Amino acid sequence: MAEQATILIVDDEKVVRDSCYRVLNKDGYRIETATNGDNGLQKIRKAKPDLVLVDLMMPGMSGMELLEKIEEIDPNIVSVVITGYATIETAVAAMKRHTYDFLQKPFTPDQLRIVTDRGLERRKLALQSARLQREKEMIRENFISLVSHQLRSPLASVKQYLVVIRDGFTGDVSASQKEMIRKAGAYIDQLLKLINDWLDMSRIEAANIKEEFEPVAIDDILSEIMELLKPLAETRKISLEKHFCDGVAEVHGNRENLKQAFTNLLSNGIHYNKEGGTVTVSSTEQNGCIEVDISDTGIGISQENLHFIFDEFFRVNSKETRSVTGSGLGLPIAKRIIEAHDGTIKVVSELGKGTTFSILLPKAKR
Ligand code: ADP
Repeated sequence: MAEQATILIVDDEKVVRDSCYRVLNKDGYRIETATNGDNGLQKIRKAKPDLVLVDLMMPGMSGMELLEKIEEIDPNIVSVVITGYATIETAVAAMKRHTYDFLQKPFTPDQLRIVTDRGLERRKLALQSARLQREKEMIRENFISLVSHQLRSPLASVKQYLVVIRDGFTGDVSASQKEMIRKAGAYIDQLLKLINDWLDMSRIEAANIKEEFEPVAIDDILSEIMELLKPLAETRKISLEKHFCDGVAEVHGNRENLKQAFTNLLSNGIHYNKEGGTVTVSSTEQNGCIEVDISDTGIGISQENLHFIFDEFFRVNSKETRSVTGSGLGLPIAKRIIEAHDGTIKVVSELGKGTTFSILLPKAKR
């Protein structure tokens, strides 16, 4: 907030404007006045006040309308309603929606000062919090750029150099050296997966996801993913089954993000499975929603770990999971994406028997 706070008084009664002006001007504030809502609106745009005192009962644009507009222009401007006894109920309604405080006419200079000081304190806190939010956002963006340029790119280059050495372009390579290079490459892949998942996680914001909404046929993307994951399933001797009910509707969503969410769930079903196991994907329509169930006959998750599996970086540490490389970000990413589609994700699991993830997404309206 500027050193000298600006207060705008919007009231059609000259005596109220003048008395507020006298008190607040004497207290060292910069004062602007307006005689009606339209005039008030112009002054808000021009003078960018910290606090606005608004009379509810004015000819032309009502105080309530003006309050709504102030909130649209800058929700951090503090509004105080000036009200007569007759409009006290409206003042309470305004308080609930757009207003910080109210002053009932007639009021004393001290009452005006108390309400103004409190309102300006609130304004100061709101501005501080907005500044901190901006700083946090900048740190996040800088960190994303640091991770992607200064970590991911050099790692990708190291991997390239290893391939050049492994393929004999720099001289003969023995079998044991090749094995070491393979292991080094696998560690680099692990790191790259972690970095890429972390970058995805940081970039997934509901607002960004919603920008690219289009009609998406869920069964089509599920089939696509199953096709893509077939080779992985085959190497792990897992069979993939699908049960789609005919004509499952579309959701209004971000195709790429939904693919990412379902890919994470399905690949988990394969990775955390047992040899000869199954992953079943089914979809049904119910009450304006599409339900997708991804069920596996794998290692399952204990009830105590089940509470944490959507937490960032959480991984179950057991002899069955040790051989699976992962980042602990697959499920949190899936959850964020589903929730950005106004959907829900639930899980039931039994240790040693298997796990089912159930996703509910609202159907696209036609
Ligand atoms: P990642 O698989 O990369 O470790 P996730 O966030 O996808 O991370 O999963 C978190 C943890 O939850 C996994 O490490 C695993 O222990 C457990 N998990 C996830 N899906 C399953 C599943 N279908 N069956 C058994 N455990 C699972």
